[in-house]
Amino acid sequence: MAKVLHCRDVGFDCEGVISGDTEDDVMTQAAEHARTAHDMDDITPETAEQIRSKIRDE
Ligand SMILES: [Zn+2]
Repeated sequence: MAKVLHCRDVGFDCEGVISGDTEDDVMTQAAEHARTAHDMDDITPETAEQIRSKIRDE
């Protein structure tokens, strides 16, 4: 089972899907995706928590 984050669920109009073996793996990739695709240089702890809450098992 993989951890999957749909970028749309976080509130972006984006078809991006990020998957990884662990939540931390997904969070690392999500931070990179947010920075490169959405110009989010700073991810606050609050935003990180919001993102983490949207990670699902798939
Ligand atoms: Zn995205």
